Amino acid sequence: MQRDKNIFQCRERVVSMVRNQSQGMDADAMEQFMQAAIQEARQGLSEGGIPIGSILVIDGTIVGRGHNRRIQKGSAVLHAEMDCLENAGRLGYHDYRRAILFSTLSPCDMCSGAVLLYKIPTVVIGENQTFQGPEDYLRSRGVELVILNDGECIRMMKDFIAGNPKLWNEDIGEE
Ligand SMILES: [Zn+2]
Repeated sequence: MQRDKNIFQCRERVVSMVRNQSQGMDADAMEQFMQAAIQEARQGLSEGGIPIGSILVIDGTIVGRGHNRRIQKGSAVLHAEMDCLENAGRLGYHDYRRAILFSTLSPCDMCSGAVLLYKIPTVVIGENQTFQGPEDYLRSRGVELVILNDGECIRMMKDFIAGNPKLWNEDIGEE
């Protein structure tokens, strides 16, 4: 575990050195940060929650992590992205303006609203096959979306939805 942590910290440093494309970040770096979001999703699943994870990155460094905790906390709002933004704490305009939000799943209306409110310019999405939020609207408001359609993200959600359709519908405000 400690070894894994060290490897990850090393990766984070490397990533911060190579960033420089999509708002300064290349595909390998995005994939590595998405792995951190996937770790959050797995953590949520191990807690009996919905496997969606999110991280917030500023200048190549993770400044917030979170996962969906609606079930764990009996919460109406703790989607992964909201949990991540909450855990990142109060940030200023110029921080959000250079942030990249990673989520294992396409952000819903609520979480997309938070992206717009804080003017986060880039969202990297693990997958949008099992659920798709208002992506076109985000783009129309100037948000850059990068969609990875990562196999692990898709598998986690497919398995969860198949086994827990009621919990999933509740999470996205459906009957
Ligand atoms: Zn959401």
